[in-house]
Amino acid sequence: MKRKTGQDRSITSQWRPATQAVRGGTARSEWGETSEALFLTSGYSYDRAADAAARFAGEQEGMTYSRLQNPTVEMLEQRIALLEGAESCRTMASGMAAMTAALLCQLQAGDHLVGGRAAFGSCRWLTDTLLPKFGIATTVVDARDPQAFLDAVRPETKVFFFETPANPTMDVVDLAAVCAIARERGITTVVDNAFATPALQRPMEYGADVVAYSATKMMDGQGRVLAGAVCGTRDWIDNTLLPFTRNTGPTLSPFNAWVVLKGLETLDLRIRRQSESSVAVGRFLEGRVPHILHPGLPSHPQHALAMRQMAAAGPIFALAVDGGREQAHALLDALELIDISNNIGDSRSLMTHPASTTHAGVTAEKREEMGIGEGMLRLNVGLEDPQDLIEDLDQALTRAGL
Ligand SMILES: *Cc1c(COP(=O)(O)O)cnc(C)c1O
Repeated sequence: MKRKTGQDRSITSQWRPATQAVRGGTARSEWGETSEALFLTSGYSYDRAADAAARFAGEQEGMTYSRLQNPTVEMLEQRIALLEGAESCRTMASGMAAMTAALLCQLQAGDHLVGGRAAFGSCRWLTDTLLPKFGIATTVVDARDPQAFLDAVRPETKVFFFETPANPTMDVVDLAAVCAIARERGITTVVDNAFATPALQRPMEYGADVVAYSATKMMDGQGRVLAGAVCGTRDWIDNTLLPFTRNTGPTLSPFNAWVVLKGLETLDLRIRRQSESSVAVGRFLEGRVPHILHPGLPSHPQHALAMRQMAAAGPIFALAVDGGREQAHALLDALELIDISNNIGDSRSLMTHPASTTHAGVTAEKREEMGIGEGMLRLNVGLEDPQDLIEDLDQALTRAGL
C-alpha cells in the first residue's frame, strides 16, 4: 500500500475539508485502483518468523491482526482525522462503542464525570447506569449553561461529556466556554459531534480534547451500516484509547469502513443540501405547529450561538404538538412520504416520537427533566425535494387536526 507517487504529507494535510472528504487517507495497492480497496482479511502473513517477531515488537512497520489494524479501516481513520483537524482517529463498530471506549479508557473508580442532561438515550445510560456501576460518580447538568459545568466540578472531576446540538431537544452547548472551563482544570472534554459532523462543526477548534462519532448517521449518510469514531491527540489515542480498544475489541469491520469511506465522499454536499432543506421545512412548520426547536431558525433560543459554531444547521430538528402522544402518533401515521423511523443522518426523511422510541428506556421523570415531552417529534430532513416534504407534512398535519 502506498500513497500517490510523490504525494507529500505536508501538502495533502493542507487540503480543505471537502477535498479531504474525497481523498484524505487514500492509499493504493500495487494495482493502482482509483476507488479505495476493500481488504476483507482478519490476519496478515509474514515472510519470515523474525518479521512476525519484529512486527509484534513494534520494530517493523506492518499489520498483525485486524482487531488492531486493517488497510481499509486505516484509510477511514486517516480521512476522519484529516476532516476533523485531529492528530489521530480510531474507528469503532458503532457510535456507542466509540462513546463507551472514549469514556472507559480514561476513567476509573473514584473519578467523576459531568455530562449533558439532554443526550442520546444510550449516552445517558452510560452516564446514569454504567459508569456509577464501576464506582465512577456522575453529575448531569443543563449543558446550555456553561456555569452549570463549573458548579458541578469536584477535585476528582476527570471528564466533561456532552453533545451539541443534543438529541433530540436541540440544546446547544457553548463549546468555547465549556472547553475553557475544562482546560483550566485539566479536565478532558469528550464531545459527541454526531449531529453536525466535521463538515459543519469542528469542536477541537474551540478547545475540545476528544471528539467522538456515530458514523452511522451523516458520515455513512445513506442508512446502511453502523460505525463509530474517536478523534484526539496522537498521544491520547496511542496511550489512553488504544490499550483499551486493542484488548477489548470494539473494532469496525473493513466492509463497514469501506461503506463509510464512500459516504464521506458526498458528506459535504449532502449535509449542506439537507441543512438548507431542513431550514425550508422548519420555516413551513413554524407557521403550523405550536413549538419548534430548530438551531437554524431565529426562534431557537440559542440560534446565534449555534450559527457561530456551526457552518449550517444540520438536517435534524424537533417540534412539538399540544395533543401529547396521541396527536404525535396520529401525525406520524398520516405521513405518506416521510418514513416513521428512529434513524437520523439518512438521505431519506425520517420522523420519530422520541418518548416512545429512542428515549423510551429513560424514565418519564428524566425525559421531563431533559425536555422531551409526550408531544415531541424529531425530524431528519433528507435529500428529497423539500417541497414534497412540505406537502407531505401539510397533509399529515391536517389529518392529525393541526
Ligand atoms: C446515534 C447516536 C449515537 C449512537 O450511535 P450508534 O452508531 O447508533 O451506536 C450516539 N450519540 C448520538 C448523538 C447519536 O445520534
